[in-house]
Amino acid sequence: MGRYGLFLSALLPDIPFEREFSLAAHTTVGVGGTADMFAPRTAGELLSLVRLCERCHVRFYPLGGGSNVLPCDGVFSGMVICTSAFDRLAAEGETLTAECGVGVGKLLQFCRKRGLVGLEFLAGIPARVGGLVCMNAGTKAGHVADFIESVTVAQGGKICTLSRSACGFGVKKSLFQEIPCVVLSVRFRLRRGASEEVQARIAAALESRAGLPAGRSMGCVFKNPAPDLSAGQLIDRSGCKGWRVGGAVVSETHANFMLNAGGATEADFRTLIERVKTRVARCTGIRLEEEIRYMQ
Ligand SMILES: Cc1cc2nc3c(=O)[nH]c(=O)nc-3n(C[C@H](O)[C@H](O)[C@H](O)COP(=O)(O)OP(=O)(O)OC[C@H]3O[C@@H](n4cnc5c(N)ncnc54)[C@H](O)[C@@H]3O)c2cc1C
Repeated sequence: MGRYGLFLSALLPDIPFEREFSLAAHTTVGVGGTADMFAPRTAGELLSLVRLCERCHVRFYPLGGGSNVLPCDGVFSGMVICTSAFDRLAAEGETLTAECGVGVGKLLQFCRKRGLVGLEFLAGIPARVGGLVCMNAGTKAGHVADFIESVTVAQGGKICTLSRSACGFGVKKSLFQEIPCVVLSVRFRLRRGASEEVQARIAAALESRAGLPAGRSMGCVFKNPAPDLSAGQLIDRSGCKGWRVGGAVVSETHANFMLNAGGATEADFRTLIERVKTRVARCTGIRLEEEIRYMQ
């Protein structure tokens, strides 16, 4: 059992709360133990929760689609914040405002209906808006930060809006990975176009992903060390394809993917990740850096 959940939920009885929330069931890699979880439904509830956690020095962990996270085995010593209730979208001219819990599918369908062009490269990424922004998700065709005007966050006891330049965006990087906060909503600046154009670009993005490995994973485990240097190729050249620790396996089709081949644990993935890093460093002199986020 988590140590803080019952205490916090007694102080915030109106916010939906769940003990023994399954991390394996709510992450794409399907690994991990349990956590205490709050699911606030309004910005007011979220702010009260974040304030209380900050005051009580309880770590909170916003969870989106759970597609870039390696959860911990056992019990998470903090509070998971489920963001799925924040699922509203609004558009005004070329500006789109999306709440953090909106999934990529819903986001792109909205863009298609409104004829808003720009974010189609996200098609097929199993994420929510908060996670996209925190990770500055993207592909060779672009990154979310390129389309962001501002981000509204709950942090330090208040809600504030940051312009894009204040968000510390870099390659698969943002300020939101460094400071404990919850991204509440994002304003995107897009371009007007025809629905058919948006649809065609979504289809092209989906087609370009056809070769990615199927199965439970976190997507790419490591960042590319440079724009023209792929982590997957370095891992492949170092002979790590197919390496296995327990239930965790380096994909044979895309070496930067590690799959849960059944019954994998956090410990399996951590050991495999370290082995791959050591081997790649020995073979190429390059120290790979994780893109995925550890829960602890
Ligand atoms: C099959 C597959 C394919 C993928 N393909 C791609 C790809 O093409 N490009 C790419 O960039 N990524 C890809 N990924 C990785 C992943 O989908 C992205 O990193 C995505 O942005 C994560 O979003 P999420 O909502 O799932 O975030 P989560 O995995 O839930 O969280 C990721 C991080 O963001 C934080 N976070 C989540 N929501 C919030 C919030 N509201 N406020 C503050 N912090 C928050 C979490 O605390 C965590 O640190 C892929 C993953 C899989 C499994």
